[in-house]
Amino acid sequence: MPRYDYRCRTCGDTFEVSRPMAQSSDPASCPSGHEDTVKLLSTVAVGGTASAGAPAPQGGGGCCGGGCCG
Ligand SMILES: [Zn+2]
Repeated sequence: MPRYDYRCRTCGDTFEVSRPMAQSSDPASCPSGHEDTVKLLSTVAVGGTASAGAPAPQGGGGCCGGGCCG
């Protein structure tokens, strides 16, 4: 059964709800009982770790790529 992330706009808490896909758009109340919640996009498939990693390769690594040979 898929899990969906929700965020409560009353207390700011985030929580997961396991429910059938057919009920994915149904409202969910937060663990504290608030009903003003919004469904978040799934973070499972995104996996954006752009901050960590090697810098983008540029040309052949020569000086002339950066405009210092002008
Ligand atoms: Zn709440």
